[in-house]
This record gives sequence, C-alpha cells and structure tokens, in this order.
Amino acid sequence: MPHHVSPTAAWSELRDGNNRFIAGEMLHPSQGFDRREQIKVAQNPFALVFGCSDSRVAAEIIFDQGLGDVFVVRTAGHVVDTTVVGSIEYGVDILDTRLIVVLGHDNCGAIGAAVHALTTGEQPNGFIRAVTDRVIPSIVSLTSAEGGFVSPNTDVLRREHVRHTMSMLHSYSAAIAKAVTEGRCAIVGVEYDLEDGHARLIDVIGDIGDVPFDV
Ligand SMILES: [Zn+2]
Repeated sequence: MPHHVSPTAAWSELRDGNNRFIAGEMLHPSQGFDRREQIKVAQNPFALVFGCSDSRVAAEIIFDQGLGDVFVVRTAGHVVDTTVVGSIEYGVDILDTRLIVVLGHDNCGAIGAAVHALTTGEQPNGFIRAVTDRVIPSIVSLTSAEGGFVSPNTDVLRREHVRHTMSMLHSYSAAIAKAVTEGRCAIVGVEYDLEDGHARLIDVIGDIGDVPFDV
C-alpha cells in the first residue's frame, strides 16, 4: 500500500484486508526479508489504529497487514489519556497517516468492568480503576435517573464508547481536528466481532467518500 493515499483509499485497503481475514484467505503481506530491508530506515504507515489491548483484536492480523503498514496504539478499552493523544498526533502530523481507526469489540473486559463499577459501586483494584474511570463517561449517559441502564444491550454500550472515543480525539486534539478539516485525515469508528472476524464501520468523522455503514 503506497503512502499518502486518501482516507478513502486507506479505509478501502483495511476493508479488503479484513474481508481476506474473514474468508481465511490472508495474504500476510509485507512480512518477509524484503520488507524489513525496505523499511529499516523509515516508516510510512498508511493508517493508524487505536484499539483495545485485547489479545484477540490484533490490528495487523484482523486487517491482514504487515510491517510498516499500520501505526498502532492500544490501551485496555481504547481509553484515552494524554500520551495516547500524543502518540496519535505523532502518527498524523509526523508520519502523515491518513486514517485513524478507533477499534472497539464485543465482550470487552474494560467495558464490562466499567458497567460493574457503575451498577454496583465496587471499584477495581489499583490502576485498573484508571481504565474504568475513562470508560464510564462514554456509557453513563445510557443510565437512567434511577441508576439502571436504559439499554442493557452491550452492543449499544460498545458502540457508544467507540463514538465517544472518536469525539474525544477530535475535540481534544487541535492537530487531529485540523487534519480532518483539511481532508488530510479522517476518523472511522469500527467494531470488531470476535466470532465472525468482521470489522464493521459504525461512524465517520471527516470524509471517506460514499461508504455505507455496516450497522
Ligand atoms: Zn476490550
């Protein structure tokens, strides 16, 4: 995949790779000696993935990409802090990646822990709480005045957390917002299905062309 592609082409490449992964027809590109030689001095990733640390949601594997293709930032529950924003700004402004993918998934432990903390008042130990504290603002709007969840559907919670994360990146970072406004970059929200391997497009900030959402 050439560098400096459009956000539309970057998403198209990731979608094609995910379709290969779903079908079990991966190409495993850019993983050999030639590729190491090609990128040993500099990296030019065409996309940036900010996803959950979950071991089952490995960005390069589910999008069938190789070395030097994707700049990856991962935290449990894809929660945002200043070093995350800084890492993503580095990807966009210095490496000139054209697409930011916020990658959530089903059966996410971080969201489950945040729901547990919200509904029971029991907090996780140590700095795990720093993770749940950063998930709760995404889902607290789905709680009623009585404290129960308006929607017990975990799909809704997960989707809301992806959208909230997209919005945080766009509103916190002047550099990211500027890149989106100028059309140099776009932010897509994607949810990955652990069972069928599908990375579904759920929302977009910016322009990736006339691409229909998957949900
Ligand atoms: Zn997760």
